[in-house]
Order: sequence, then C-alpha cells, then structure tokens
Amino acid sequence: IQTKLPAVGTTIFTVMSALAAEKGAVNLGQGFPDFDCDPRLVDAVTEAMQRGFNQYPPMTGVPALREAIAAKIERLHGRRYDPASEITVTAGATQAIITAILAVVRPGDEVIVLEPCYDSYVPNIELAGGTVVRVPLTPGTFRPDFGKIAAALTPRTRAILINTPHNPSATVWTREDMLALQELLAPTEVLLISDEVYEHMVFDAQEHQSAARFPGLAARAFIVSSFGKTYHVTGWKVGYVAAPPTLTTEFRKVHQFNVFTVNTPVQHGLARYMADPAPYLELPAFYQRKRDLFREGLQRTRFKLLPSEGSYFQCVDISAVSDLGEADFCQWLTAEIGVAAIPLSAFYGDGFDQRVVRFCFAKKDETLRTALDRLARL
Ligand code: PMP
Ligand code: GLN
Repeated sequence: IQTKLPAVGTTIFTVMSALAAEKGAVNLGQGFPDFDCDPRLVDAVTEAMQRGFNQYPPMTGVPALREAIAAKIERLHGRRYDPASEITVTAGATQAIITAILAVVRPGDEVIVLEPCYDSYVPNIELAGGTVVRVPLTPGTFRPDFGKIAAALTPRTRAILINTPHNPSATVWTREDMLALQELLAPTEVLLISDEVYEHMVFDAQEHQSAARFPGLAARAFIVSSFGKTYHVTGWKVGYVAAPPTLTTEFRKVHQFNVFTVNTPVQHGLARYMADPAPYLELPAFYQRKRDLFREGLQRTRFKLLPSEGSYFQCVDISAVSDLGEADFCQWLTAEIGVAAIPLSAFYGDGFDQRVVRFCFAKKDETLRTALDRLARL
C-alpha cells in the first residue's frame, strides 16, 4: 500500500531494547527506570480500583487530578491554570503531543522543530499534513540558536516545539533562553508546544523554566508533562497538557476522538499521591546522585562526557573509544560489551552522526555499577 510515513520504521528505543534483551545486555538505551515506584502509589491505585473507580472518567480527566496538577503548576511556577478549562489528562506525553499537533496544524502549515529532537515530533507533524522545518541546536553545546530560529519563522509558521530538559542532550533552557523565545514570538501568532516531561529532573541548583512562568509564552502554549517520568511509572502512560481555554477547546475536540479519556483508577491514585509534594520535590536530588555516580564511573573510561544538566540521560563522545559510527557502535556495544545505548543520529532527520551516544541512568545503583564495570574494559 502507499505509505503515509515512508521514512518511519520501528523506533530506535524498541529496536535497542529488543537487542539488549536478546543479548542479555544491561539496558541503558530506552529511557525507563529499572526500579519500582513508591508502593504508596500502587496502594492508592489499587484502592481506587477496589472502591469501584473502574468506569469512564470525565473526558477531560478526573477532576481531583486536574486540580492537583493545577496546584502543582501554581506552586512551582506561579501561574494558576483553571482545571475545568485549561487542564486535560492524557495517555502519556506522547498522546498529548500528537493531539496538540493534530488540533492546530493544518495542511501546509510549517512547524519548527529543534534538532536533535524526540522521535515522535516529525511523524506527528507529517500526519497532520504540516511541513517540518528543522532548525539545528548549536552543534556541540545543543543550546538554542535564536538567530537560526528567527530566520526559520515565516508567515506560514504555525507552531514551534521545544523540549527542556532536553532528550537526548540533557541540556536545560535558562530563564534567558525562555525570555529570548518569548521576545521572538511576541510579534507573531506562532503557537508553542513545550515538552516538559523531565521538568522535575534538573540538577546543580538550576531551575526548570516552564513556559508557564512566561506570560507571553503561556498564552500561546500547550505545556506537556508525564507522570511516567516523575513517578517512575512509564508503563502507566498518563500525562497532561495545560493550555489556555481557546487552545484547550481545540485540543479536546481531537482528544475525545483519539482516546476519549484515560484510565480511571490510575488517575484517582495519582490525584491522592500528588497531595504530598515531597516525591516530585525530592526527584532532582534523587537523580543528581545517580548522575554523579554514573559520571564518576565513566571518568574511568575513554568516553568523553558531555554535560548532563537535566533529564535522566548522559551523552558521551565515542571517538576515542571506537572508529565505528554511532548506530554500529551501539549495536556492537550491546552485543559484545553487554551495554545498550542509543545513537544520537536517531534524533536527526538526516541521520547526522557526530560520534555521540546516549545512556539512561534511571537505573538501580547496582545496574549502573555493572554497566560501568563493562564499559571500563573499553
Ligand atoms: N517527550 C520526550 C522528550 C520523551 O523523552 C518522552 C518519553 N521517552 C515522551 C515525550 C513521551 O512520554 P510518555 O511516555 O509519557 O508518552
Ligand atoms: N522517551 C524514551 C526515550 O527517549 C523512550 C520512550 C519510547 O520507547 N517510546 O528513551
């Protein structure tokens, strides 16, 4: 048949996890924790099931969860979103992003993505009939280049997608970055899709600069996050989108027909668990310790470490270790050394190979130590 997505195969995360399983490798490829979530969260969901919360919730999400999300955003970023008209619970960030894109991108609209970018963005835009406009982040540092973004804006630009903390580079946008974006977009009607799934993983006393903090951005933004990352439950696939009423109205028109709503007991459990802010307030320190443990071990290898300011990823330059390209190196590392990683080329449309691969350190300390012992042999 004629394919709608000719350039798309199976995602690199699925491919590398399958190879890791086949080879019995330590899987530092696909981003997910290998430790369990807080048992209190499991209890809260179980209890919701036992209490009979097992039928459709409201299309927009369980009210108590939307209220808890609004309270969290207000506490951290000082902007009050109305749970009734501005917050929608989604089946993970993945569904939030595609739904936002389908809701606002019309055939022929241009949408700016900053490369490297998460692998779902480009196919999402193509499915909406939009034209993808790729703007590179600064080579080497992965910082936004506002001159290049400005040059990419045209009267047909409908939206720009940003992601901070950033997957795969682990950079974090500063307040100045967000102010620069706000200023750049001020004279335009360009919409913003702000992927903030790693919002609670920012290190070294830096702060997450949510689009919610910047009125000129918040007014045009779909802000997307995911409980999978924050509460170590990637398999539950629950996230949310916060957006002004006009954007939320459009979002919900699509949402009601692509999933209608999201599973009920998990929403009730999350709502109860969120009453205590400690788990998300403690997350930066939790992951910073893992990042430091992992980086310290990597110092014993010949990899050159890139900074990891946020997210649960650590990128390394492989050029002193191997002559292979990124994708071949990751296959080899998985099969022969027993550690899976993700090639950065998977986050570029043209497969750009800069000899950098990504490890995920959301793992038990013992898993990280096993991987480090193997990597130290290189
Ligand atoms: N955006 C980014 C940048 C991600 O890394 C991920 C998860 N890997 C997602 C979106 C999707 O999140 P979810 O699992 O909640 O759909
Ligand atoms: N977002 C995760 C990553 O970057 C993977 C999610 C997925 O497998 N689609 O590793």
